[in-house]
Amino acid sequence: MPELPDVEVFKRYIDATSLKKKIVRVEVPDSKVLVDCSAGELADAVRDNSLLGTRRWGKHLFAELDSGNWLALHFRMTSYPRYFKMPEGDEEDSRDARYDAVRFFFDNDYAFAFNSRRKLGRIQVIDDPDRFAEEHDLGPDALSLSEDQFAELAAGSRAGVKSMLMNQKLLSGIGNEYSDEILFQAKLHPEKKTNRLHEAGHRKLYRIMNEVLEEAINAKVDPEKMPDHFLTPNRQEGKPCPRCGSALEKITAAGRSAYICPSCQPEP
Ligand SMILES: [Zn+2]
Repeated sequence: MPELPDVEVFKRYIDATSLKKKIVRVEVPDSKVLVDCSAGELADAVRDNSLLGTRRWGKHLFAELDSGNWLALHFRMTSYPRYFKMPEGDEEDSRDARYDAVRFFFDNDYAFAFNSRRKLGRIQVIDDPDRFAEEHDLGPDALSLSEDQFAELAAGSRAGVKSMLMNQKLLSGIGNEYSDEILFQAKLHPEKKTNRLHEAGHRKLYRIMNEVLEEAINAKVDPEKMPDHFLTPNRQEGKPCPRCGSALEKITAAGRSAYICPSCQPEP
């Protein structure tokens, strides 16, 4: 499931490849990903437009069109963006082409595809990302939050700390994997009550959250490029804790499978 760092990497990829190019044609091999619009309506909304820039809010990505409208992209599960030259010759790329849900063709013989292998990604045309966030009850983006704002949110939460981090209404962008990483780095058990951490604990958690998200983005979310002290590359039951060597455990927390080190993250 793409989380904030994954979507930030997608954002940078789109920024580097697909901005300021005129869209001349649209293909929709799979209209299941479209929300509130038909393939024809999507084509009408984007044809003769270019993508001016992008904005990320949690796990959502928005691309602004010349018209002033925005494409809202939600990558969910295995979706990702790919930019390629037409016709496709490269084997690596064309193997995935059958999972393209929408393709936008530019006037330079290149195309941008929203690829969605499990058909769970979503595309929508909207007029305002701020209103979209409000309608979807999205809390502030986890990387845009100040330390004071975070401390205030955390002080008001009686939930377990994993559940709090993953609550998109409180803060947007963190899911199952990165909440595990943040809690591992903070040496906190996922079920520890958030408001029991007190202010110093909340401020420390904020700084670790930022470090983890930034490090993951720097590593382009490739586990092999993540720091040695990260849980993510070792996120498997029985593997040694990268800090103390104890066997990692899989538990259920916040209704999800969570990976913890039972020595570093003792039960509250
Ligand atoms: Zn450990």
